[in-house]
Amino acid sequence: MVKTDKEWKKKLTPEQFKVLRQCGTEPPFSGKYVHHNEEGKYVCAACGNELFSSETKFKSGSGWPSFWDKVDEDAVETRVDTSHGMRRTEVICANCGGHLGHIFQDGPQPTGLRYCINSVALDFKKEDTEE
Ligand code: FE
Repeated sequence: MVKTDKEWKKKLTPEQFKVLRQCGTEPPFSGKYVHHNEEGKYVCAACGNELFSSETKFKSGSGWPSFWDKVDEDAVETRVDTSHGMRRTEVICANCGGHLGHIFQDGPQPTGLRYCINSVALDFKKEDTEE
């Protein structure tokens, strides 16, 4: 999915644009999903792509929603980010290329990974309940 900055600005809030398109980071503990515990899927706020499941969300204490795995193999991609004098691995939406956050190697088992994700880059979809 390729859109220009102008098109993204129309679709996203200024906060979403800053994180998703300009690799910004929301202040810790500011996001609406940090302490969010409902069962369901977290999707990309820009394109709706399913990214993470509540089943792999954990309390990291970092101030950002944290997951130890992605929802499936094709959900997200990673790339090296050397901005701000650090060498980190950036997590991006595999569908629209939007910046989501970073991945670290200090997560819980079974993966040992910590996907550290900005709340503003996410939307939440409750698990469908059987009628
Ligand atoms: Fe996306």
